[in-house]
Amino acid sequence: MTTKREGRFSEADASVRLGPTRQLIGGEWVDGVDGRTLAVECPANKRVIASIPRGSAHDVERAVVAAESAFAAWRRVTPSVRGRALLRIADDLEANHETLARIIAHETGNALRTQARPEAALCADVFRYFGGLGGELKGDTLPLGDDILSYTRREPLGVVGGIVPWNAPGTLSSIKIAPAVCAGNALVLKVAEDAPFTALFIAEVCQRHLPPGVVNVVTGLGPECGAALAAHPRISKMSFTGSTAVGRSIVAASAERIVPVSLELGGKSPAIVCEDADEDWVVQGVASAMRFTRQSQSCTAGSRLFLHRSIYDTFIEKLIALMGSYRIGDPLDEATDVGTLINGKQFGRVCGYIQDGLDNPAVKLVAGGLPPKEGPLSAGYFTVPTLFASASNQWRLAQEEIFGPVLVAIPWSDEDEVLRMANDSHYGLAGYVFSRNTARAIRIAHEIDSGWVQVNQGKGQIMGQPYGGFKQSGLGKEMSLGSMLEGFSRLKTVTVNLAL
Ligand code: ADP
Repeated sequence: MTTKREGRFSEADASVRLGPTRQLIGGEWVDGVDGRTLAVECPANKRVIASIPRGSAHDVERAVVAAESAFAAWRRVTPSVRGRALLRIADDLEANHETLARIIAHETGNALRTQARPEAALCADVFRYFGGLGGELKGDTLPLGDDILSYTRREPLGVVGGIVPWNAPGTLSSIKIAPAVCAGNALVLKVAEDAPFTALFIAEVCQRHLPPGVVNVVTGLGPECGAALAAHPRISKMSFTGSTAVGRSIVAASAERIVPVSLELGGKSPAIVCEDADEDWVVQGVASAMRFTRQSQSCTAGSRLFLHRSIYDTFIEKLIALMGSYRIGDPLDEATDVGTLINGKQFGRVCGYIQDGLDNPAVKLVAGGLPPKEGPLSAGYFTVPTLFASASNQWRLAQEEIFGPVLVAIPWSDEDEVLRMANDSHYGLAGYVFSRNTARAIRIAHEIDSGWVQVNQGKGQIMGQPYGGFKQSGLGKEMSLGSMLEGFSRLKTVTVNLAL
């Protein structure tokens, strides 16, 4: 493998001010009913950060009871007043931006400068966006004549459940809490066992501005605590972000009770580079789409790179140079570009995929490779941005979601051919097209079978843009007005006979 410039390692843990480490139920910070705990590890040094309660079905039950009690009053609060509470949360999050960013970096392993600070800023944006939308929870009147008043009204669903993963714990918690609460619901959120502290910190901020029990947070393992929430008989909607396999079990649990679900699942998104785009800004765009500075632990990673044959070699050369320039190291170091994977399980999986690539004589390793076994990077779950060239779209590494920095480059010559390959995936979350010919790029964008396609850039989500996947990448949208209306409220029609 190529050698990387390794970042500095410091005893930076002291600069992280951790927030709550217990569950939030009915406004109280509580241990688990069963008294069991789970240790949470820092992925950069494998040291224990702190322990959290290993919540069970008993904790979920307590949280649902607290949420039901809060919901009775919260649903009657005028939407604009609910919105104002969210705006205060946004201001409070902004005032605590650096603290939040450091918690994110410390527990996820995402680099502070490139990832954690932007994520902390996005959390405030999410609350500010939904805080302004209270007035949009409105209905219609129907033109049925003078003797009938028929109108629709938006009502909250009740107690809703959210389950979030570890890869963007701040953003993903915020996009469940803010729309649910603005629409008048109470929420029980199950946070990820590998990165719970970001969400607990956000919950603490929420708690300063909301009545007790409107937002409740339970901690614990997925099959215990998460499954109990998904199957709880009095949860009226589940909003899940995580793997496709678990998403399937969430749908199965909801089928028992006929309650709505929204799912944001995996991806294996195509990045298509046309022959007129052999330029540095495209190389930057492809790397950004691949989310290398998040160790590619992103559902929207453009992890299948389709490069036109005529520019294949020159583009790859430029990409190798960029990949080699990242500084990998301590997530809390300002100089670090790329942090670490989340845990030993993911580290083992990603190394397994890389080994598979090394063992495949049909492909060529052109950058990265297996992580170093010695030196500072071996203290944590650090990997190296890796590129396999001359890959086939049928290859396992081109079909399966790796959730690590392993990019495969696939050559193409013909537009129909590249579209066929791009759409030959059971995922359909995102897509990227790069071409100087904008009309052509838009034509290709329209043909990509994914919920979100970017042309000539590979950036992150923006509030207000409906975000959600096609095919096995998900159901429903998030991050938009429509997602709040469709995902967290229900429409009632009232018809009044006025001819008395
Ligand atoms: P990943 O490990 O890639 O984040 P998962 O889908 O396993 O993806 O986890 C996402 C979230 O779902 C986490 O909060 C996890 O605890 C939770 N989870 C895992 N298994 C289950 C399950 N069987 N039922 C409900 N939630 C689960």
